[in-house]
Amino acid sequence: MIDRVNKPRVRFAPSPTGYLHVGSARTAIFNWLFARKHQGRFLLRIEDTDVARSGLDMVEAIFSSLRWLGLNWDEEPIFQSRRFEIYQKYAEQMVADNQAYKCFCTKEKLQAEREKARKEKRTFRYDRTCLRLSDAKKAKLESGGAPHAVRLKVDEGRTAFFDEVFGDVQVDHEQLDDFIILRSDGKPTYHLAVVVDDHEMEITHVIRGDDHLSNTPKHILLYNAFGWETPKFVHLPLILGPDRQRLSKRHGATAVSEYKTAGYLPEAMFNFLALLGWSSGDDRESFSRDQLIEEFDLSGIMKKSAVFDERKLEWMNNQYIMARDDESLLKLTIPRLEASGLVSSEFVKENKTYLLKIMALLKPRMRRLSDFPDMASYFFRAPESYDEKAVKKHWKGPDLVDKFHRLIDRLGNIEDFHPDEIETAIRSLAEELDMSAAKLIHPTRVALTGAPASPGLFEVMELLGKDTVIRRLEKAVDFVEHHLNAEVAIN
Ligand code: GLU
Repeated sequence: MIDRVNKPRVRFAPSPTGYLHVGSARTAIFNWLFARKHQGRFLLRIEDTDVARSGLDMVEAIFSSLRWLGLNWDEEPIFQSRRFEIYQKYAEQMVADNQAYKCFCTKEKLQAEREKARKEKRTFRYDRTCLRLSDAKKAKLESGGAPHAVRLKVDEGRTAFFDEVFGDVQVDHEQLDDFIILRSDGKPTYHLAVVVDDHEMEITHVIRGDDHLSNTPKHILLYNAFGWETPKFVHLPLILGPDRQRLSKRHGATAVSEYKTAGYLPEAMFNFLALLGWSSGDDRESFSRDQLIEEFDLSGIMKKSAVFDERKLEWMNNQYIMARDDESLLKLTIPRLEASGLVSSEFVKENKTYLLKIMALLKPRMRRLSDFPDMASYFFRAPESYDEKAVKKHWKGPDLVDKFHRLIDRLGNIEDFHPDEIETAIRSLAEELDMSAAKLIHPTRVALTGAPASPGLFEVMELLGKDTVIRRLEKAVDFVEHHLNAEVAIN
């Protein structure tokens, strides 16, 4: 007997014909959480029976995405492509036990029958020609080495099973036929391979996408034919895009690796995916990995399809960015910063403290690590242009140039260029000019950053340093005098 209660064994079984899809990653996460929660085992199986479409590079990419998400596995991964002989042996056993039979029908014959059924608007069912072959005919075909597939004998009746998410599922065998378990080229079909492997791997719970719900009756028939105990089945509803269609490339990135490249943190991705179709029962959204292990339960899996909401993922990523220390965030963003051409590796080495301070200032506003170079650019070079809307809104009035001149003067007199001192200087100047401090702060922000928004201006100014601040204000004066059209300046 498999020890189901105390020691679940689950598996994640990707087909390596593409990169790790976020939907598959969600399946992997549910399996992993279930195993970790019950001190069970999380196994990997690479379903690469379609050798032509599977690639080792894809397998590596899948492993690497799983590692990135922190989904460690407990035993050596199983590769189906290395197990063809095992499946063949089991198929032969089925034939010997009279549970399955060899089918010598040619592709052409079957194709013609399929076509006929299509024209007559019936579902194609294999007509059991080869089940009725006489022993003599069979022996002749066999000795002549005629290629053959192996079909499972599916007699009349019905198959029922219980799914942990979908409840009772029943299928009348009228909807099935004697399906192929071993192809004429000696390769197993998905159905045979999955059942043999789940049995040999002693899988207790099959947790997978609900696109396999309709395959499950066939699997149960195989379990029964072998006389094996069936695992529990847990089918996960598909993930949908915002338009409620199956999540696909049309909706944007679907590979986990694309999210990594886009600057999402693995812990944010993990938390987000764990909540796609699972709920703790209340409306909490932020869960640490340990909390998820603690609270994950199959009963929390929802029958309704979950919608992949990228904005929520961005929000969550920002939460996790804020929770990370500046040092680790900087480590992750330096390659992006260098690639943007804003800084050299020498600069990075010599200006670590400066970079850490920038990170501390910017991280509450970062939704993705990839935002960093753009958001931080003014810390490394003077703005090349000024945001048009911000200019219209904040660089107006006949006294703008005068305001800038006075400000340059005041700032120049500050000895200790600290946020407090800077703030005092700006506020007292505003008071003298009988205007709100905002009327000085906003135009200054545009002059220093080129942007309409930034973290606290006084902190930004401190980091830029007095000389740079004054230089940029002078440049802004120059721009206003020479480039802004008279209308805007005078208004
Ligand atoms: N290889 C299958 C897939 O990628 C999974 C099969 C299973 O989990 O049983 O959809």
